[in-house]
Amino acid sequence: MGLVALGAAALAWTFVRADLPVPGGDLGSLPAAPHVDGLVLRRLPTATIASQHGFSVRGAPITAPFTSAMVAFVVQHPKGTVLIDAGMGSRGREHVSTVPYLMQAIVDLQMRQGTADGLRAGGIAPAGLWGVILTHGHWDHVSGLQDLPGVPVWMTTEEQAYVAEDGGGLLYRQIDAERPVDVRTLTFPDGPYGPFAASWDVFDDGSLVVLPLPGHTPGSVAVLVNGAERTLFVGDTSWTQEGVAWPAEKPWVTRRMVDHDPAGVREQLVFLHRMVAANPGLVVVPAHDGRVHARVPTL
Ligand SMILES: [Zn+2]
Repeated sequence: MGLVALGAAALAWTFVRADLPVPGGDLGSLPAAPHVDGLVLRRLPTATIASQHGFSVRGAPITAPFTSAMVAFVVQHPKGTVLIDAGMGSRGREHVSTVPYLMQAIVDLQMRQGTADGLRAGGIAPAGLWGVILTHGHWDHVSGLQDLPGVPVWMTTEEQAYVAEDGGGLLYRQIDAERPVDVRTLTFPDGPYGPFAASWDVFDDGSLVVLPLPGHTPGSVAVLVNGAERTLFVGDTSWTQEGVAWPAEKPWVTRRMVDHDPAGVREQLVFLHRMVAANPGLVVVPAHDGRVHARVPTL
């Protein structure tokens, strides 16, 4: 009995707020944002999962409701239209069966529209996309690829290796086996970008910049859109705005299910926290925090 009580107390402790320590010092500014005529950022909501806030970030009330939003973001640029993540596809509900049993038990996916359908409704032909830049290769970021045949999909070599062998790449492998994904290797040829060691300036005008952010998965990336706001998409490095603002990691129980390198994620959360402090106006967008997504107009 004593041991059970001790175990319960230990588990409860993993939900108690414990903000990550932040070292002093200024991280430095990002390069000045250019103004590019015709750059438009839009949000394409595809599905939601009803969840609990305390399971999304350590220290939030455990039972408070939190809506986990599954989205793709659409960047319309004069040189092409890019998706940041693929959102959920038309067969999204089937795709839930590719995640671990424990997660299937808690995931109640409410589909709204598949990404390709949402694009068409917004006047964008899916086949004409310039490409999809994946923040990482987990199921809820690749599901929509199933309805986007022939569209180039950008991933780092580390992420390609991860989705080829890890359980977290099961849905990607399934979609790829059904109809090969036109995968392109994402590299960072454009040198340092502010505090980031490397970068890829996608259209060579500073409007859309991809940056390495490994931790949640080995090849996770962040995508910076320098539009009306400076918007940094950080994938699942954090699920919530509090993860960067406090900063705080996911609680142990979800962290161990989804984070490939928890120590690396902690480092990135502190890094992002410091970057916001050094760059007023920078908006960090966790992949599933609908409260932050609301800043971006829907397509
Ligand atoms: Zn995710």
